[in-house]
Amino acid sequence: MRYTGGWIKLEKNIRISPGGRCLTLERQKDLQITARYAVAADGVNSRIVEALGLNKERKLFGGFGVVSYLMEEVACPYPKAWLNFVGRGHVKGGKGQLYFDPKPQKNPKDPPLFELSCGCPIDTSPKEAIDWFMQGGRFSSWFKKARVIETRTAVLYFRTPIPEPIKGRVVIVGDAPSFIEVYVQGALMYGYQGAKAIIREMRGENGFSEYISLWKNTFEYNLPGEIEKATQTFGLHVLEDEELDYLFGLTENDRISGYLNEFTDPDRVMGGILGHKEKIRKERPALARKIEEFGKVSVKEALQVQ
Ligand SMILES: Cc1cc2nc3c(=O)[nH]c(=O)nc-3n(C[C@H](O)[C@H](O)[C@H](O)COP(=O)(O)OP(=O)(O)OC[C@H]3O[C@@H](n4cnc5c(N)ncnc54)[C@H](O)[C@@H]3O)c2cc1C
Repeated sequence: MRYTGGWIKLEKNIRISPGGRCLTLERQKDLQITARYAVAADGVNSRIVEALGLNKERKLFGGFGVVSYLMEEVACPYPKAWLNFVGRGHVKGGKGQLYFDPKPQKNPKDPPLFELSCGCPIDTSPKEAIDWFMQGGRFSSWFKKARVIETRTAVLYFRTPIPEPIKGRVVIVGDAPSFIEVYVQGALMYGYQGAKAIIREMRGENGFSEYISLWKNTFEYNLPGEIEKATQTFGLHVLEDEELDYLFGLTENDRISGYLNEFTDPDRVMGGILGHKEKIRKERPALARKIEEFGKVSVKEALQVQ
């Protein structure tokens, strides 16, 4: 697309001509841009995807609000760890997830920098939840002297991925066709592959079908059952604090190898706990039944959006 007037802020009304050759952006007056191909890369809540009518084919699970604080002067006893605070007791109202991790400083001599993020279903306030965690939660002592140097926010709508992220001549890349996120590396990769697909089409080759096949085979959430499986680890969040203390207490002396990956976490985290299945069944039969039923928890229940 050739346009030399700088970045365009897309307003609510975007119209795309049949075949996707002409994009009309309504500002104060219509602005039309005509190109042979277009790339839609406007993120998780893509208006271009909505304008193309592709959200109609997707299942919407619900929306999450996220607040992240970048902070210095945090008294964290595990400064190099990626931490996930599991359980309803950490968030006022019992809904939401909290993550905490170290961040790189531009100057290594600067004091350590941390990010605390809280995501909650959109009917609750992530700001209230994160502030309550820092001021009144179990780990509030870590944040007594903390200095928030930056606040970031996001709203994300969880939808099933677009199975074939091309409509007419519009190639959809990055978070726009995904189940909330492809991550930064995925956004770069699909942007690059989308551009390559267009070049191949221009040469008369099958660039689009190759891009669709790449998307289907590399973005794991396209595989049947992956959304359900990945969100089921969140099922742990709905257990009572006392139940979680018991379960994690069982794994205290276990060494579970791995790295953070939402597709393998369910097996790794639940596998670690279920390694003690017989003991749990004997000592806490009702809790054992609850854990064994996690596979039946719906995505909406696991995300606490219903
Ligand atoms: C809280 C949070 C934490 C995350 N943490 C990580 C992480 O640690 N590591 C990781 O790899 N990924 C992380 N991600 C995911 C990562 O940010 C995304 O997967 C990635 O940014 C997707 O890139 P994108 O280019 O597709 O979309 P985006 O980065 O969302 O870019 C879309 C762009 O389109 C612009 N845009 C949208 N609408 C319009 C409009 N109407 N007019 C003009 N411009 C518009 C936006 O301003 C934005 O610049 C995180 C996401 C969130 C929300």
